[in-house]
Amino acid sequence: MMANERRILFAGDPHGDFAPLIDAVKSHHPEAVVMLGDYDLEKPLQHYLRPIAGLTEIWWIAGNHEFECYNRHRFLFDSAFADNGLHLKVKEIAGLRIAGLSGIFLGRVWYPPRQPKWRSKKHYLSRQPANIRRAGLSLKYQSAIWHDELERLKRLNADILVTHEAPRSHRHGFIAIDELAVALGVRQVFHGHLHEHYSAPIKHGIMVHGVGDRMVVDLNGDVL
Ligand SMILES: [Zn+2]
Repeated sequence: MMANERRILFAGDPHGDFAPLIDAVKSHHPEAVVMLGDYDLEKPLQHYLRPIAGLTEIWWIAGNHEFECYNRHRFLFDSAFADNGLHLKVKEIAGLRIAGLSGIFLGRVWYPPRQPKWRSKKHYLSRQPANIRRAGLSLKYQSAIWHDELERLKRLNADILVTHEAPRSHRHGFIAIDELAVALGVRQVFHGHLHEHYSAPIKHGIMVHGVGDRMVVDLNGDVL
């Protein structure tokens, strides 16, 4: 079906080890790579990706680990690749429209299928004491998937959805991700976080590819 199923590669949770991604880029020369979160960075991202900088486009979403401490956060969000985040966006990458959703569902914000505790970041902050309002959202709250933001993303169209959380194709997945995939009109979903490699369909024939940790897969979900 795909002209070249290796023109985009997807990298599952690196957890500090980018060697499999670097090897895959050097072997297969993809037009782009999309990284699915949980980088555990101890230095800015560009330090790790120097061997493949300029060889391919590098895109990413954030996992939950990026919000566990200030350094892990800034080594991604203030890195040389800061502008290549896909969260809540659709970008045309190697001829395909790819939508991205970073983060995880948090009980204190929204844990589908329950109703959201807070409608939006603004709603949450408006009910906090002045010192918290002034400080802004903590990293923990920044890691959350917010209901209003996901609803806005649903209005876009895309060919592929990349998420950290799983849809219901996985036993730990969330129906809200299935619904996002359907609304976007995607054919495929790639997700990380759960460290399991599998391919399974959800409704409308959408194929979901779980990508294991430190694993690299192609557009068919096949491991390289
Ligand atoms: Zn994770």
